[in-house]
Order: sequence, then C-alpha cells, then structure tokens
Amino acid sequence: MAVPRSFRRQGIVLDSKPLGEATLLVTLLTSEDGKLRAVARGARKITSKLVGHLEPLTLVEMSLNRGSEFHYVSQVQVLDNFRPLKTSPAGDDLLGVTRGLYLAELASWYAVEEAPGVSIYNLLLDGLRVLPECKNPDVVLRCFEMQMLKVSGFMPELYRCVECEEDLLPRNHQFSSEAGGVLCSQCRPAGFVVRPLSLDALKVLRFLANTTLGDADRLKLDGELADEVSKLLQVLLSYWPDHEIRSRSFMDHVRAQAPSAIPVAPSVIPAEAGTHAPDSAATQDPVRHTSFHLPGTSSPGASSPNASSMIGSYRSTQ
Ligand SMILES: [Zn+2]
Repeated sequence: MAVPRSFRRQGIVLDSKPLGEATLLVTLLTSEDGKLRAVARGARKITSKLVGHLEPLTLVEMSLNRGSEFHYVSQVQVLDNFRPLKTSPAGDDLLGVTRGLYLAELASWYAVEEAPGVSIYNLLLDGLRVLPECKNPDVVLRCFEMQMLKVSGFMPELYRCVECEEDLLPRNHQFSSEAGGVLCSQCRPAGFVVRPLSLDALKVLRFLANTTLGDADRLKLDGELADEVSKLLQVLLSYWPDHEIRSRSFMDHVRAQAPSAIPVAPSVIPAEAGTHAPDSAATQDPVRHTSFHLPGTSSPGASSPNASSMIGSYRSTQ
C-alpha cells in the first residue's frame, strides 16, 4: 500500500533553526517516528500564521507533507506551550527554560530519526510537566538522565560487578562507564577509567533507575553526595554520545549567576531562606554537610530550602 503523502503528528518541538531568510528547520520529537525534521516555509515572516507555534519546548499537532530529504509543514496547532516551566510568579523563568532545553537536548541525542520512540517521547513530556511543579528540580533532572539511559538501552549495571559478576555487597565500590557499570572492590580491569563509588551514591542511582520523575522529587539530595551522583551521570551521558552537552553548561551557568546577578522579587523568597546557611560544624565535616534522605525517611513537612529550589522563583532580566 502506498504511503500517504500527507500525515499528521503530535510532537514536541526540540529545535528550530533558521534556514534562509524566511524558513525554519524544525526538529520534532514524536512517539510514532522518533525525531522528524521538517521545513516550515515562510515561518520566520512576521505575517506567518506559524509565528510563535514552532518555538522549542512546544507540544504541537502538525500536518506534514512528505519529502525526500525533509518533510514540509503545512499546518500547526499548539497543544501545550509548557508555560508553567517558562514562567514563575515573578515573570519569565530563565532557569526553568534552560532546564527544559537540557531535557530536550538529551532527548534529541538519544532519539532515533524516523523510528518509533514512545519511551523517550513520554519521558520528555513527563519531564516538562513535572519540573515546574517539583520541589527538588536537580533530583528530577538526575532521574531524567538515568531514565533516559534506561529507555535508550544504555543502563549501567548496578547490582553485580561487571567484571567478576558477583552480587555487590553493601559497601563502597568503583564505577567505570567504559566497563558498563559498577565494579567490586576486588576487580580493576586493565585499560578502563575507574572512579570511586560510595554506597550512598549506588543507592541513589538504583533509586533513580527504578522510580518515576514525580516520585524522584521526594528525594532530598545535596552536598557531596549530590555532586557525586551528578558527576557519575554526566560521565555516563557524555561517554555514549561522545559529545558535549551544551545546554548543561548553559544551565549550570544560569544557576551560578542567578542568586547574585538576577534580581529577586522579595515577595517570592521563602520565609525560611535565611536559615539555610550551613553551620560551622557542617562546613568543617564533609560527612555532616552531605544530605541524603530517601523518600519516606524524613519527617512530614520537613523543608530543606536551598538555592536551586529558590532560583525558580527569581525573575530573569535577560
Ligand atoms: Zn568484581
């Protein structure tokens, strides 16, 4: 049966680049066809009906005409522009946008062009909707990273030593992305880069691999342990695609700049913000300074205000 020339797809705009003076080249993530590249002729003209419909981080229903190299956009309807991610009570949320773009860049890397990709599509959709509602966005980002590795078939081994295949005992271990996961303390295969892995970090990685983004938000994680988990996941993510995650650097830059460079709307600062300064003992003792509370282990209502959870309330002047 002949493939219809025209078709419709629901998808998330991952990227939108100028192509000539008036045209946009759009990358759309769909569940049926993974990544689709489509040309939107005239979309950059002010008078175009498509203006504002093809910005990255927009869920659209798109009518397309098949082409040999690209598809061609004939009609677009915006279904969701993820406004809660892009704005805070104080106005535009630059950090929220950069987090969304980071998720979109990861999805774009791991999605395959013109091949079914329902898991990655659903994961990205979930991430864009969970992030603006969550209390611990950095943990949700770490969970998204782990889930992306999982649905893409790049999940590291977290339960048995990848060298001797023995079950891992509850103690500190080693990790090698090149070897494919965790190594017991007895094994050190030649030629692989091996880094230390704490028992708490292993527990966090296992938790992130077996939960949802929404449930991951219940995990309070900061200090050295958060740093260790973040670096491990970055090594895993950068190892497979063999490419720099550009939006990650930008997101880190925005976050680093936010508290001092971006004006704060006083009305949105949590009242307990002033109580967050680490005490002197915690500063001197790296073990105490590390915080790790698996969901259900902290007292109800216990708050852990930190800079990253507050930055989402800051208004960008960009
Ligand atoms: Zn071993």
